[in-house]
Amino acid sequence: MTRDLALLPKGHLHLHFEASMRPATLRDIASEADEPVPSWSDFADFSDFEAAYGDVLRLIRRPDQLERIMTELADDAKADGVVYVEATLAPVLHQHLFGGDAEAVLDFLLAAAKREEERTGVVIRAMLASARSGPVELAVEDARLAARYAGRGVVSYGLHSDERGFPAAPFVEAFDVARTAGLLITPHAGELVGPASVREAVEVLHADRILHGVRVIEDPDLTAEVARLGVCLDVCPSSNVVLHVVPDLDHHPLPALLAAGVTCSINADDPIQFGPNVLEEYELCRDRLGLTDEQLAGCARASITASGAPEDVKTRALAGIDAWLAS
Ligand SMILES: [Zn+2]
Repeated sequence: MTRDLALLPKGHLHLHFEASMRPATLRDIASEADEPVPSWSDFADFSDFEAAYGDVLRLIRRPDQLERIMTELADDAKADGVVYVEATLAPVLHQHLFGGDAEAVLDFLLAAAKREEERTGVVIRAMLASARSGPVELAVEDARLAARYAGRGVVSYGLHSDERGFPAAPFVEAFDVARTAGLLITPHAGELVGPASVREAVEVLHADRILHGVRVIEDPDLTAEVARLGVCLDVCPSSNVVLHVVPDLDHHPLPALLAAGVTCSINADDPIQFGPNVLEEYELCRDRLGLTDEQLAGCARASITASGAPEDVKTRALAGIDAWLAS
């Protein structure tokens, strides 16, 4: 008997909004922009990937295209058994479509998320994130924007983009603003840089969750500390393969992290560029990494308990996970 992973209630905590775009949508917006469809087969490194993300962003020319992405994100989440999405938004990327007003972008996206939640039942909340390669002042502005929307759709604040040469420590003020507003602290770390980056996220930023974080495994003491603190790693196996964080899926450290007692959720990161959606990531974790149904249910449980989902959503999802495991 094989339990259907589509029926396992799960949260999706590490999903960059624009990269949730379907391939057909990418083709359509390229055609509407009269531009070639961006294509990629391999990324030499993270910079290559970031440039490709920029190519996708440049094709988004109208607000209704953002609405389409949100609609399809909700439909795809529902099909994957996702009951809660914490989508990473960076309003600054689209403010040129809204007269330079980042708050107008956020209002627009949160309203779209709310409509989709009512239509599909998938609860959608936002993580705001700043580029760690960008100016600290801009991050503080982003964090203030996130803080103003705490309790109104934004639940977490993080840092993304290239870790190499861009430590997180200078961003302490931005994270203080977010924490004071009651937001979860959710930086990317431990992807392109090793344990030092995870240590910084834990000890300097006091992260509640770390997006990726997988390279903590290189330091057994720090791994034990992350496990003890219960900091959740929002792990994205296929992303780590495509961006050469691990040599191949069979060498992914997720089983070792779980064996060490680290709390982990399973996520897709950037499906338009990496391929698998979140359900397929769960299936890969079962088929290729050998995770048991108990472990997969544990990851689903983490994706709910460590999230910014409303309490009633958490209660319902956790009961659903127990029921799945008992089935
Ligand atoms: Zn990411």
